[in-house]
Amino acid sequence: MKDQQLLRYARHILLPQVDVEGQQQLLSSHVMIIGLGGLGSPVAQYLAASGVGRLSLVDPDQVELSNLQRQLVHSDQTLGQNKVDSARQSLQGINPDVALQTFAVAADEAWLLEHLQQVDVVVDCSDNAGVRYAINRACLARQTPWVSGAAVAMNGQLVVFDPRQADSPCYRCLYAQLPDQPGQCADSGILAPVVGTVGSLQAVETLKVLLSLPLPVGSLLTYDALSSDWRRWQLQRQPDCEDCGR
Ligand SMILES: [Zn+2]
Repeated sequence: MKDQQLLRYARHILLPQVDVEGQQQLLSSHVMIIGLGGLGSPVAQYLAASGVGRLSLVDPDQVELSNLQRQLVHSDQTLGQNKVDSARQSLQGINPDVALQTFAVAADEAWLLEHLQQVDVVVDCSDNAGVRYAINRACLARQTPWVSGAAVAMNGQLVVFDPRQADSPCYRCLYAQLPDQPGQCADSGILAPVVGTVGSLQAVETLKVLLSLPLPVGSLLTYDALSSDWRRWQLQRQPDCEDCGR
């Protein structure tokens, strides 16, 4: 590591769970972020600032005025641009060390299978179940861990899936069949910092995967912003699951 990097990452290196070795590990890691909206913003910002060496940004949409209330990686100056291009500009300003690849596409299972080869972790910051089922199947096939977040209105939730662990449930074990219903925030609204809270937790769990720290695999964490309650629910792997059942 160069002197400038030792200085940039000094507060990470002070942590015994990270140290110089862990920071090197982050610098040589590759994370794919699917969705550069309210969840993807803090995920991308924290992972870039943390020195994750390579980030693949995936989102087919453009920046709209109604996004700016909560999608902090974008700005008034990038209205109308592809979200991945807008995010790239912003992230380059945070940390020029990070290699950024952009894909203005809607990720489906075939696309993911093709692009997951060298990805260490996928972060699901999408807003619909169809994409999550695609990520689930592709990550099961490629044995890639993924961190799923969701937020709507005043509620958020987070799950870490790790297909490398035999007893890890998958997304379909949790939700056997959800309707493909994009854009829930457009219908129900969302309190801005709730996505920031969930996205920040996704960034934490992603760094833990990269640093090989213990993970809350197989549990669902829920956040109710109205009552300020956090709850953890233990999930079970379903033996007859369509996606991961044997
Ligand atoms: Zn399953």
